[in-house]
Amino acid sequence: MNIVLLGPPGAGKGTQGARIADRLAVPHISTGDLFRAMRRDNTALAVQIRSYMDRGMYVPDEITVQMVENRLMKEDARRGWILDGFPRTHAQAIALQDMLQRRRSRVDIAFHISAPTGVLLDRLAGRLVCSGCTAIYHVISKPPRREMVCDQCGDALQRRSDEDPEIVRQRLAVYAAQTEPIIDFYRAIGCLVEINGSLPLEVVERQVDEAVLSRVAISTVG
Ligand code: AMP
Repeated sequence: MNIVLLGPPGAGKGTQGARIADRLAVPHISTGDLFRAMRRDNTALAVQIRSYMDRGMYVPDEITVQMVENRLMKEDARRGWILDGFPRTHAQAIALQDMLQRRRSRVDIAFHISAPTGVLLDRLAGRLVCSGCTAIYHVISKPPRREMVCDQCGDALQRRSDEDPEIVRQRLAVYAAQTEPIIDFYRAIGCLVEINGSLPLEVVERQVDEAVLSRVAISTVG
């Protein structure tokens, strides 16, 4: 099963992506996580990536599409994948369609997880991310058992450098301008599932699971 997660920063894409990837035993491919790993390198590309991320801007499509194409060619992605944070522009959505058509494959579900701006700002202000396994925590709603230490792998938790309030506002503006329009692209294809990401976590999880299960049922029958 191939799933795309659309939604503004803080809507819950990472949390849902990790969970359903685990359930379906397919890789959770977060372009933000891939860029955070790449930006640590000592290369000209890393310098370029840092300059975009630190301003809350999108990394150019050519770099992003190439990175995703390479990742989807890996063996573990043959049985399906969860793409979290890709596509984010119209050009990326078209590039993904082309890639899939070449392999006679398709996007089975595009989840659009939304939440009001106030909720997103509160969540992002308290978000902590593990520097090792990328697990996500929140200082109030999901604190780690030991302060600033990941429950899962024991590595240090950190705040993201692009979660300063000014940069967050910029990221939300870029999302509204460049990513919101592609929601209609997936609606037109007929695979869009809308999720209200401000509902309690268990309700969001149930709605996501129901959508996934109904597709599993369809692909088993068809
Ligand atoms: P995220 O962790 O998904 O919020 O992504 C963090 C940052 O990585 C974004 O603000 C962008 O700078 C960059 N990024 C992640 N995914 C993409 C994408 N699909 N296209 C361009 N830039 C991206």
